[in-house]
Amino acid sequence: MKLDKKHKKSPYIIAGPCSAESESQILETARLIKDNIDIYRAGIWKPRTNPGSFEGVGKRGLQWLKKVQQELNVKVATEVATPKHVELCLNSGIDALWIGARTTVNPFYVQEIAEALNGVDIPIFVKNPIHPDIALWIGAIDRLNKNGIKKITAVHRGFFTYELSAYRNEPKWEIPIDLKSRMPELPIICDPSHITGNRNMILEVAQTSMDLDMDGLMIETHIFPDLALSDSKQQINPEKLRMILNSLIYRNRDNNNTSLNKELAGLRKSIDRVDSKIVKLLSERTDLVKDIAISKLEYELTIFQLNRWFEILTTRKNLAKKLSVDPKMISDIYELIHKYSILTQSQLMKKEHEE
Ligand code: PEP
Ligand code: MN
Repeated sequence: MKLDKKHKKSPYIIAGPCSAESESQILETARLIKDNIDIYRAGIWKPRTNPGSFEGVGKRGLQWLKKVQQELNVKVATEVATPKHVELCLNSGIDALWIGARTTVNPFYVQEIAEALNGVDIPIFVKNPIHPDIALWIGAIDRLNKNGIKKITAVHRGFFTYELSAYRNEPKWEIPIDLKSRMPELPIICDPSHITGNRNMILEVAQTSMDLDMDGLMIETHIFPDLALSDSKQQINPEKLRMILNSLIYRNRDNNNTSLNKELAGLRKSIDRVDSKIVKLLSERTDLVKDIAISKLEYELTIFQLNRWFEILTTRKNLAKKLSVDPKMISDIYELIHKYSILTQSQLMKKEHEE
């Protein structure tokens, strides 16, 4: 992979069009980006919401990908959604496969694909399910693992949301972070194309993923993005891909500069002290919640009281604003605190009833 010298670590790069459309589009795009990538991607079976949309060129696309392999000496990958797709790809010698977001949601499909892949030694990329359900994502990875697939990489492509959002799919960074914490050995790459749905936001999201120490990127790249038959708005041209890869800052996980490490250690000690105060305060708060529960029980009051909850939220958010703390952070934290306050009270009441 040829990346500029200033880069400290080189992420794994997968790029190529959303869909294979024609032999020349596949070969020309690959020719222009081959020096910047580890794997060339192109979907040949496209899962689309509407049956009238372009649903991919099907298996003839495999021949074009083979040409990319043979003429340009580049590894190629495509999406599989059924055991038949797996069989066709394996027979054609495709180097790597990915399971799409609409397939990861369904354990039946994943199981069938995992069985079709049993014992196969090629890299398999597993996109997150459309909905923010980490258990489904982990379940899909486990099904592959159980079928002897060793080279598994998770692909973070964002999550569906009903909320108005600047993103096509909300990144919800806490989910890939949670995945990394639960499966530290599993590489995770980011797909900023499907997260943003907008070519102007790809650099920003790719940078965030690098700052979060993700292992690579999958970026949809098309020789003529405006003419693309699928996901046109989020695809970039080969020149823009190079620009993005060269402007990303790749940060280090650590550094052996002693004065820096001393400074970090000092700051971390202070954070430890603050955190210990937070936990003690939460314990104190929980004791008060229990006292309140006893009074509510005695006078037969409901646990949840809407006005009090609104008052808590408003006053804490106002204080946050005064102290220049993000009020959204405070309301998120208070939602959790309130959730556990309700839980503590209902457990206590249940116990009292039983006695
Ligand atoms: C794709 O990579 O083109 C694709 C369909 O992705 P996803 O499954 O993430 O929507
Ligand atoms: Mn796409």
